[in-house]
Amino acid sequence: MTMTARAVPVDTSAEYARQLDAADPLRSVRAEFEHPFSEDGRPFTYLCGNSLGLMPRTARVMVQEELDDWSRLAVEGHMLSRRPWVDFHEQFSELGARLVGARAGEVVMMNSLTVNLHLMMVSFWRPEGKRTKIIMERGAFPSDTYAVQSHVRARGLDPAREVLEVGPRTGEALIREEDILEAIRAAGDTLALIMIGGVNYATGQAFSIERITAAAHAVGAMAGWDLAHWAGNLPAKLHDWNVDFACWCSYKYLNSGPGAVAGCFVHERHGTNISLPRFAGWWGNDPKTRFAMSPEFIAREGADGWQLSNPPILALAPLLASLQIFDRVGMEALQAKSLAMTAYMRSLLPTSPLAAGTVLTPSAPGTHGAQLSIAFEHDARTRHSELTRRGIICDFRAPNIIRLAPAPLYNSFADIHTTLTA
Ligand SMILES: *Cc1c(COP(=O)(O)O)cnc(C)c1O
Repeated sequence: MTMTARAVPVDTSAEYARQLDAADPLRSVRAEFEHPFSEDGRPFTYLCGNSLGLMPRTARVMVQEELDDWSRLAVEGHMLSRRPWVDFHEQFSELGARLVGARAGEVVMMNSLTVNLHLMMVSFWRPEGKRTKIIMERGAFPSDTYAVQSHVRARGLDPAREVLEVGPRTGEALIREEDILEAIRAAGDTLALIMIGGVNYATGQAFSIERITAAAHAVGAMAGWDLAHWAGNLPAKLHDWNVDFACWCSYKYLNSGPGAVAGCFVHERHGTNISLPRFAGWWGNDPKTRFAMSPEFIAREGADGWQLSNPPILALAPLLASLQIFDRVGMEALQAKSLAMTAYMRSLLPTSPLAAGTVLTPSAPGTHGAQLSIAFEHDARTRHSELTRRGIICDFRAPNIIRLAPAPLYNSFADIHTTLTA
């Protein structure tokens, strides 16, 4: 797969980047974020939001407010703080739902991504008779592979038998969607679950969640998605796409801070089934009886019923600050800028210091987010060091991939121009 020459004339001038920024309806949002700078005060060019998003200015304010309330109110803060802690997480039920195209109650923010994958597998991987198999992608993020394999082992089965991986064909970098669909058909009534990354972290390839989910359902399997590189990057319609569950982290595209609290979607048809087996904790109990301290667990309806513990308020504050920005801007406006940014990056690449690379990320609409993964036959690490020396922060994935991820909320076309002109 090589870079395709564009029919549009390429304007590599800094003036053109300035024009694109002047015409950008989201240009003012950049100032709502804190941008990193070097020891001597020079700003870095930051194209690493796929790894750790920048800090919304309001995050500092909201964390400070929670500290103030804790200091002043102590235990009374559960009921009396400005955002009472006892139902703090409920602020996300609509905010989080709008982000991923869910209904209120289908989304909860809790734990971290890998923890949530385990919790979802407890409920949605229930091997029975010959229906035991799990399909995932080869080259998944290692934590997902560890989670699935260790989970299968903990349930007394052998991952070498139960986990089927679909990878790229020999000599190809991307997984063909038809190969996933074919693997699902071939597994048929032995398939219990598919669990795939919506956007592959290394290549930036986005799959059709709706089509693959429908194929899994057609053979009677559950469909779960890891949306670590999708949430806040691409619009989603998880409810309408009929996804059974999805999990994502919030520190990448969602700008909610290192180790931020993760997200979890459970489709309404499962959320209303309070007898669905799960690992339980008191915060998943119906709030009407939560404080009765009864030994009998009664699940709360919705994704909230999978919560274990009372949530970390100091960690939820930056998430709230960030999701308020996403909610105001909207994923459609964000995606429009994302598409313009990746097209602009592709147009500059052939004359850039990275021209020797091959773009792995697909270019067709719906098959990528705000990321270009560029593979190099030689010297990828040296090229990455050179970018770093020029004050450009981006990501290197061993053995040979440089990932450039412009975040529509806080990156400018000038950032891209700086990166791709020597
Ligand atoms: C970033 C990422 C993770 C990281 O998991 P945490 O539990 O948040 O540390 C896992 N899976 C995928 C696909 C990721 O992109």
